[in-house]
Amino acid sequence: MPSTTLAALTTLRLGGPTGDVLRITDPDDWFELVRGIGARQEDAPLTLGRGSNVIASDTGHEGIVAVMNNRGIAVKRLDDVTVAATVQAGHPLGDLVQWAAAEHLAGIECLAGIPGTVGAAPVQNAGAFGQQVSDTLSQLSAWDWDMGRQRTLPARACRLRYRHSRFKTQPGRWTILTATFHLTRSPAAPIVYQPLADELGVPAGARPPVAEVAAAVLANRCRRGLLLDLHAPDARQAGSVFLNPPVTAAQAACWTAAGCPVHRDSDGQPRASAGWLLEHLGYRPGCEIAAGIRCSDRRTLTLTAHDGATATGLAQALTALSAQVESATGIVLQPEPVLVGTWP
Ligand SMILES: Cc1cc2nc3c(=O)[nH]c(=O)nc-3n(C[C@H](O)[C@H](O)[C@H](O)COP(=O)(O)OP(=O)(O)OC[C@H]3O[C@@H](n4cnc5c(N)ncnc54)[C@H](O)[C@@H]3O)c2cc1C
Repeated sequence: MPSTTLAALTTLRLGGPTGDVLRITDPDDWFELVRGIGARQEDAPLTLGRGSNVIASDTGHEGIVAVMNNRGIAVKRLDDVTVAATVQAGHPLGDLVQWAAAEHLAGIECLAGIPGTVGAAPVQNAGAFGQQVSDTLSQLSAWDWDMGRQRTLPARACRLRYRHSRFKTQPGRWTILTATFHLTRSPAAPIVYQPLADELGVPAGARPPVAEVAAAVLANRCRRGLLLDLHAPDARQAGSVFLNPPVTAAQAACWTAAGCPVHRDSDGQPRASAGWLLEHLGYRPGCEIAAGIRCSDRRTLTLTAHDGATATGLAQALTALSAQVESATGIVLQPEPVLVGTWP
């Protein structure tokens, strides 16, 4: 059980030393881990997937880190068109999407190109291009560190909202072990996001083949700097640093008139474009934000880490950016990546 640094386990490559790191590569590893470290809340490890949505503390994490690397998809046919795919938590989400596309199974094609693991995807109800995990998640199995046992949670018990779930409000209570999605053998789900319809050259509401949609999503993400390329200058990143903020009807009207894109999320809540708000304040791709922290060369809303960056510096930069936006617009930005490790 070697220790390492959180930097080595996260895409921003920031973060100090860890305690022992346990890599879960097989479902049985999990039960061995629980037998070894204990089953209750005080024993709970920090759970990580790919580390693509976290800002890990410079101080590190004294306790155990469980890295979910377990892969595998078990398929059960439910009827002529629907299958239940139960996926191990460490399975890369992108691989699951490619598998579904090859099998002509619809429902998750717009999640192509989101880095990270299947087990982490319900944590923030990962989504893109108008599709999110909650559209197809049927249930998941998770270790409940409060109760010291494995539980099955139906999707409704996960309280999935726009980039939110009970796993975010109860950090450390749950480790997701598998997730089950209901996918349909059919053309893709109707395209609701206009830029994706434009990419495909189809009207909104069209249902092209699943593989075509997944490929168009990847092409669109590639052009907009939304793919994680470990060899690119913007490799050290965690994607968007702020969620699109909720706005009141009056704010929506005012900022739409000013040119800010405002969309309704799946709960009907209007949300403004966080990237547009940063650009409204003068930030642009490539801008220096703090020591070693810059806007990605391709996207203002993605901050990238470089020599001299620290997690503390990045967290302070997010607080400062949020305060500037609030003071200029009255709109409150919330960071998207989660702080992990020991923070003062
Ligand atoms: C280039 C880029 C593009 C991105 N695009 C998108 C996007 O379009 N849409 C989107 O929603 N996100 C996006 N993200 C963010 C991120 O990839 C997703 O949120 C992804 O689901 C995180 O997976 P992960 O395995 O890296 O999670 P991690 O970063 O390892 O963990 C994230 C959180 O989940 C917890 N966690 C991880 N695994 C488990 C588990 N098995 N059980 C319980 N808790 C767990 C962690 O403790 C942490 O709190 C992007 C990131 C990057 C770098």
